[in-house]
Amino acid sequence: MPRAVAGPEIERLIQLIARLPGLGPRSARRVALHLIKKREALMAPLASAMSEALGKIVECRRCGNVDVCDPCTICTDASRDGRVLVVVSDVGDLWALERAGVLNARYHVLGGVLSPLDGVGPEDLNLGKLVARVHDEGIGEVILALGATVDGQTTAHYITDLLRDSGARITRLAQGVPVGGELDYLDEGTLSAAIRARTQM
Ligand code: ZN
Repeated sequence: MPRAVAGPEIERLIQLIARLPGLGPRSARRVALHLIKKREALMAPLASAMSEALGKIVECRRCGNVDVCDPCTICTDASRDGRVLVVVSDVGDLWALERAGVLNARYHVLGGVLSPLDGVGPEDLNLGKLVARVHDEGIGEVILALGATVDGQTTAHYITDLLRDSGARITRLAQGVPVGGELDYLDEGTLSAAIRARTQM
């Protein structure tokens, strides 16, 4: 166990930063030191932005997106095509698709994909609301943007069966998406090509 180099407040800061995705203990120390050096210009605004966001973030009861309003900004955006619904596993994928800028649709966030190995079953996902929305909102096309993993494709087939009687056209992203690839890691060009070349389920 290495000796602490700073008091408990700073050590705690380093430990918390180390829990962020993509950061280990070494980069956490580097980030903490950067914040400490830039405490007026960066640490103070970051701390207040975090506490402000924390108090306002809500999950959209309609689509499962996160925002500071419910229904969310996307659900209430009248310029979007309300007949196209894009199903994603989580908000990161929604953000990735928005970055690609090809779709002008609304979304439905499942909160994961079916995964027998990890014990994720249909009841753990936001599926009931999906079926209700496709019927109630007169959806003409459901685009399944669930990635090319085994679990993603299993989920896509499960949803296709659920929506079989809905009358909506069910499509999925073209298989240009690398196997096991999460949407968030794709560049915008690859993602928009996969959207344009989507195929019927
Ligand atoms: Zn929403």
